[in-house]
Amino acid sequence: MGAPLHKRVFSHRDRLIALYEDPSSHPRSSDWRWQIRHRITSFHVLERLIELTPEEKEGFKKAKGRLAMAITPYFFSLIDREDPDCPIRKQAIPRIDELTVSPEERIDPCGEDSHSPLKGLVHRYPDRVLLMVTDSCAMYCRYCTRNRMVGEEGPPMSTEQFEKVCAYIGSNKEIRDVLISGGDPLMVTTRRLEHYIRRIRSIPHVEILRIGTRVPVTLPMRIEEELVRMLKKYHPLFMSIHFSHPREITESVRRACNMLADAGIPLGSQTVLLRGINDNLHTMKTLFHELLKIRVRPYYLYQCDPALGTSHFRTSISRGIEIIEGLRGHTTGYAVPTFVIDAPGGGGKIPIGPGYVVERREGSLVLKNYEGRLFEYIEPSPPKETS
Ligand SMILES: *Cc1c(COP(=O)(O)O)cnc(C)c1O
Ligand code: SF4
Repeated sequence: MGAPLHKRVFSHRDRLIALYEDPSSHPRSSDWRWQIRHRITSFHVLERLIELTPEEKEGFKKAKGRLAMAITPYFFSLIDREDPDCPIRKQAIPRIDELTVSPEERIDPCGEDSHSPLKGLVHRYPDRVLLMVTDSCAMYCRYCTRNRMVGEEGPPMSTEQFEKVCAYIGSNKEIRDVLISGGDPLMVTTRRLEHYIRRIRSIPHVEILRIGTRVPVTLPMRIEEELVRMLKKYHPLFMSIHFSHPREITESVRRACNMLADAGIPLGSQTVLLRGINDNLHTMKTLFHELLKIRVRPYYLYQCDPALGTSHFRTSISRGIEIIEGLRGHTTGYAVPTFVIDAPGGGGKIPIGPGYVVERREGSLVLKNYEGRLFEYIEPSPPKETS
């Protein structure tokens, strides 16, 4: 009959724990399917792996049901288990604070659902659409703006629904840019992803495709030869990769980004400003410098959206502005992302930054440079009458 069930469960668990402690010791740890199958999704495994704080223990018990937990063995191995404030840990392990709902928080903070003509499609700007093909991610970020809809790990968008979306894009000639997101589109099989991409590419007025993903950071082994070979057939194709902290840039991530960049895919980064994780100039500057070294151009820095239960992650807007002020002019322009707020209720992304125009005068502007010195720029004078 074999060992009693509980015994078998325990020995299996012990084996897993040994794997999480050093996933690289497992012969299949470089296989992304193995990584997905062995994600940490239960309190019992997590508790054996790391000494949880009371806030985390409570968070796990009570916050369950709002947003699933899943951590790849790879991403878990980046956690400093001695440090309760580890920036990797805080992004991945739930805390009791997730149960606190502040008055400004909303289920759908950026009004995506109200700009959705079809399930899985957001059409906010006239010339581009956001397509959400799956609700799965390799790791669930506790601050996720789409925590209302990710994490159930349902099937990816069906062929029928996808055809409806393509018919919509096909009949809206002004749509020239399709952003494939989720969830995380790199969680679907390469074959299915190619089906989506090829079909969208066949719409003549779609000029560019974009993929929004965090997989190169949380599951870098997913970036394999087969995927990259497929993607490069559909240029111009851009990729926006979600990075939060310089500690995320490991040898595996360097390899993944190099493969993507070598395939001619322009890479941009998206970063959410997170309290106690990256909300200081030094961390951000290091992150953006490290990104440029792997050919990822910092694209957006987001003020953290007021999704339910995320107030412990949000900082003041002025903190973000200070960070931009500390970058602009002080370092490579390519290392300075645009700081944006995705307007609550659905106004789209609104750039905010330090004010460099100090005064508007008749015929001139007074400007402040990065050192705080003032300069006057004389506007071109109106063309003279020639007779
Ligand atoms: C962010 C976003 C886009 C893309 O915006 P860009 O500024 O072009 O990167 C498109 N649609 C929706 C709904 C978005 O949230
Ligand atoms: S990867 Fe993106 S969609 Fe997925 S949990 Fe993180 S923020 Fe949300």
